[in-house]
Amino acid sequence: MNPLQFLTDELQELGQLGARRELRVITGEQKARCIVDGREVVNLSSNNYLGLTTHPKLVEAALAAVRAEGAGSGSVRTIAGTMASHVQLEERIAAFKKTAAAVVFQSGFTANAGTVSAILGKEDVIVSDELNHASIIDGCRLSRATIKVFKHKDVKDLHRVLDEIEGQYRRTLVITDGVFSMDGDIAPLPDIVEAAEQHGAIMMIDDAHSSGVLGNAGRGTVDHFGLHGRVHIQVGTLSKAIGVLGGYVAGSSDLIEYLHHKARPFLFSTSHPPAVTAACLAAFDVLEQEPDRIARLWDNTRFIKEGLDRLGFDTGASQSPITPVIVGDTKLAMRLSDRLFEEGVFAQGIGFPTVPRGKERVRTIVTAEHTRQDLEQALAAFDKVGRELGILGKVTA
Ligand SMILES: *Cc1c(COP(=O)(O)O)cnc(C)c1O
Repeated sequence: MNPLQFLTDELQELGQLGARRELRVITGEQKARCIVDGREVVNLSSNNYLGLTTHPKLVEAALAAVRAEGAGSGSVRTIAGTMASHVQLEERIAAFKKTAAAVVFQSGFTANAGTVSAILGKEDVIVSDELNHASIIDGCRLSRATIKVFKHKDVKDLHRVLDEIEGQYRRTLVITDGVFSMDGDIAPLPDIVEAAEQHGAIMMIDDAHSSGVLGNAGRGTVDHFGLHGRVHIQVGTLSKAIGVLGGYVAGSSDLIEYLHHKARPFLFSTSHPPAVTAACLAAFDVLEQEPDRIARLWDNTRFIKEGLDRLGFDTGASQSPITPVIVGDTKLAMRLSDRLFEEGVFAQGIGFPTVPRGKERVRTIVTAEHTRQDLEQALAAFDKVGRELGILGKVTA
């Protein structure tokens, strides 16, 4: 008897649902047009919004750091793993976010999970948008606080929850994604902040998909909505628009110092190697020096959205470079993704439980680096395959 037989059984179940997927493998560089599983495709699946993963300035900075400082950091931050460049990057991020201080984590995931679980305990309550990222949900669970969920972007429902819990808990945290990762829509942050202020709650936002994308020079949703000083905890990632790896928290100096003492991924997991930190620093230089990248990103965003809408696809409520093509069935989403791939377009299918049942989709993300030709090729493939699979109305024989 194999005690792991249940794994095989569950994998077979996934297979029957059409949700068992093999990892697609990129050879060479991660960019707008690249080699995936040996085939050249237009890549509409990465979070490389500004095309920085392969930017020469980032690559050179990483190489120089390896030569000057070596390959690894050798320790967690609180023992011997804080190198000068870590501190420099955190100062740079704080200036970028216009906050007093910032702290870098190994990833956006650990930034969220580590922060929420550090600052809240079982006497507290967390009020969370129902579509918040998995790393927020895990942080909430780790904190052992009570978790209350409000309907997606629904400020009325947020007020209902806040009224309901009034006076019952020690502290309240209101938390939302800035841009939602599966639908690409933007949180109604001014109203959410207002609600949090009325109830004396801590306000936290996860700007993983909005940093480098929204706001002046990509400062994120807090800047986009002019809410500086009113959001206590801002999380961002260095893994998406910044093009490298990592996550950060920006806020008051006491918040950051507290996280140095209490955030478990900061205390118990080794810090970034010098190459990662140096490449991130170079990325912030590029953000300043090449503002046209953000303009091109939004240009491409408008182009593909208009194209997909014109073809007749359901692109949901997206307001960002993330544009879903909702087909409402896992097998159909995976079939669409597979056929697009054969036509030279890499756009991942996403099924339940990553998105709710009935909202299964192929998700597209454009970058600043896609050319018009790339996007026209993608739209032609969507048109052809959409008709073939009956998503766009029947093919007339
Ligand atoms: C991707 C993502 C994260 C995690 O960021 P990583 O740096 O990839 O770990 C956190 N929150 C949201 C909303 C995300 O989309």
